[in-house]
Amino acid sequence: MPPSDPSFESPPSSELTCSGSLLTWEMSDVELAVLIESLTSVVKRHGASSSLPKLMKSASFPYRDSNDALALISDDITQNLRMLKQPADQRFRCYQCGMEMDVNRVRVHVGKHILFFIRGIDEALNGIPVGLPLPCGFCGRSGIQTCAEVYLMKQKAPQARSNCRHQHKFNYAPSLVSNVSTPCTNVPIECLIPGCRAEVGSNITAVWKYNMPEHIWLCHPGYSSDGIEDGVPVPAAMARAMLITHEEEEMIGIPSDKIPPKDHLISYSNASENNIPTKPSRGKRQIRATTSSSTARHLKKHKSV
Ligand SMILES: [Zn+2]
Ligand SMILES: [Zn+2]
Ligand SMILES: [Zn+2]
Ligand SMILES: [Zn+2]
Repeated sequence: MPPSDPSFESPPSSELTCSGSLLTWEMSDVELAVLIESLTSVVKRHGASSSLPKLMKSASFPYRDSNDALALISDDITQNLRMLKQPADQRFRCYQCGMEMDVNRVRVHVGKHILFFIRGIDEALNGIPVGLPLPCGFCGRSGIQTCAEVYLMKQKAPQARSNCRHQHKFNYAPSLVSNVSTPCTNVPIECLIPGCRAEVGSNITAVWKYNMPEHIWLCHPGYSSDGIEDGVPVPAAMARAMLITHEEEEMIGIPSDKIPPKDHLISYSNASENNIPTKPSRGKRQIRATTSSSTARHLKKHKSV
């Protein structure tokens, strides 16, 4: 809080007071009011009121004023939150950049951070950076068990789900196509390499599209993750499903020198259905081995750390 604030006669006391057997902070009602005002203005300045944690009513939580009324409550923000049409849990605050948005925008928004990471571009964000392994397509975080539970539902029109606590429903089929308003096609897709998929109830295990190259490195050594690197090409349908078009990369904002070369598309489309590695492909260089993908190098660099 600004020390020049005229409402401050003197700064709040930082002395701890002994009250019975408890050590507590004690400050005057005026100081407390100024403090709440100041905290409120910080929250408002960041547009973060809906991100405030919600606490249950508590009779013992120590913030009470001299009249024993609850203190540190901002009537202003409470009022604002009540007036907002959306309940607070319909809002999401991005773990990576801190931006607040409607939950239904989360997948497309976070997909951008993930693709930047995969392409080796440091966005220099203030939050938790995207990392390995297998960043969650909803929240962008790694290493959380519920986020790693990604499925396609077994039904005629496929729908995806994840146990990420920030998951939201989206129309699966349209989200496979990149367009200006929703450029990101990072959706759960099936790994068609024989023996990989598993049925869990009425769901089939799936992998986030942007994570598929990493999935292949982790789970299917011997296969080529991009048709450029050494290895057996993945089944053609899977190659098509995991392809990120140049248009998508451009719309998401990947600089052209970081977009993988166009010829990986050709390699993919040459892949035959249901390739199965017959022998270790070690040492066998494929045609475009010289145009080694920067993505692969980048992720492998991380993997070896
Ligand atoms: Zn973000
Ligand atoms: Zn998640
Ligand atoms: Zn797999
Ligand atoms: Zn391409």
